Amino acid sequence: MFRDLIEALPDALVVTGSDGNIIHVNVLAEEMFGYQHDEIVGQAVEMLMPERFRQAHCKSRDDYSRAPTIRPMNECTGFYGQHKEGHEFAIEIYLSPLRERGNVWGLAAIRDISARKKMEDELRCARDELELRVEARTIELARINESLRREMDERNRIAEQARQLNAELAHVSRLSILGEMTSGMAHELNQPLAAISNYSQGCVRRMRNDHVDLLSLIPALERVTAEASRAAEIIARFRQFARKEALQKQRVTMDELVHKAVDLERFEAEACGLQLHVELQAELPHVLVDEIQIQQVMVNLIRNAIEVTETAATAQQSVFVKVYRANDGENGNVVVAVEDSGHGFSEQLGQQIFQPFFTTKPEGLGMGLSISRSIIEAHGGRLWADSSEGSGATFFFSLPANEHE
Ligand code: ADP
Repeated sequence: MFRDLIEALPDALVVTGSDGNIIHVNVLAEEMFGYQHDEIVGQAVEMLMPERFRQAHCKSRDDYSRAPTIRPMNECTGFYGQHKEGHEFAIEIYLSPLRERGNVWGLAAIRDISARKKMEDELRCARDELELRVEARTIELARINESLRREMDERNRIAEQARQLNAELAHVSRLSILGEMTSGMAHELNQPLAAISNYSQGCVRRMRNDHVDLLSLIPALERVTAEASRAAEIIARFRQFARKEALQKQRVTMDELVHKAVDLERFEAEACGLQLHVELQAELPHVLVDEIQIQQVMVNLIRNAIEVTETAATAQQSVFVKVYRANDGENGNVVVAVEDSGHGFSEQLGQQIFQPFFTTKPEGLGMGLSISRSIIEAHGGRLWADSSEGSGATFFFSLPANEHE
């Protein structure tokens, strides 16, 4: 009965006497260790373990037989068995004392865990390998990230450089326009200066008169002050146009923006005997722009329009500046159209006029339109032209509306 029970167990079983010699083994134990029943029974149990453990085992076996207790499998790990042919294998042991007729036997249930250990080792190796790969990949990604960051920094630096160059170019171009404007400025200044001179002379004359009522001079002196402010405003307007500063966007009304630009060119138009008409649609939205740069674009377009209209000498001696809210195509943006009655341009020329340094004028620089286009594009807008040769041209630019403050 006892033997049948031992054979029915799923583990290898080794029964030892109190002297540590093997009394009985089941078939599974014979197969596990490679011995015949007779070869094993009566032998010291240490024969089933590698040489290096035997001495220590003898001692612990003595200790155990003095105080035998049950030791579950998970407490008895880290053991190795040795096969008859010499190879080792990892085992787990369940130890239990068996008491019979005053004898204490040791019952050891042994389980070969080499396959499990192998799997665990393989898993550990795979995990280590995975960790190594993850680490290598992380390093690689960090390297790629770093090089992307450097590349982006470099791109930003180049973009910033390009932006600065554009601003410089725009400034140089403004200065060259200003050079052409000096006669206009002198003429504009002449008016307040002449008025100041007249009113002051009048005051002097009246003060020479003994019976002058000083209070009666006040209106004339107030005119002097007003004319001096007007002169200062004219100078401020031109100086502001010459200003060299980084792009500074501000929220402005289109009316203000257009009138300031048109005022800079009004004298030029009048000097050429042309009318400069401004037509502003009611309730235009605000725009967020660098005022000076947008003025520069308008001055460029208006100057070109004045020049061609003057040379074409048509009956219509006017330049129109029309400002309106666009319909579908421009997404509700504000559009400024500068319309002339000059000679216009052919379709082929229309492809070239926006290229830098393209000019058909003997003294031309050919930079106005290309700079204007880059200014408008930097504001998120578009600059384009429309013409049929011989019947004038219209240059348009759009700017995104800035509805809410
Ligand atoms: P520039 O005025 O120095 O020539 P722009 O870039 O302002 O430089 O203009 C380039 C060219 O585009 C001009 O030389 C002219 O041929 C053409 N152009 C510009 N404005 C007009 C216009 N309103 N009508 C016809 N052609 C124009």
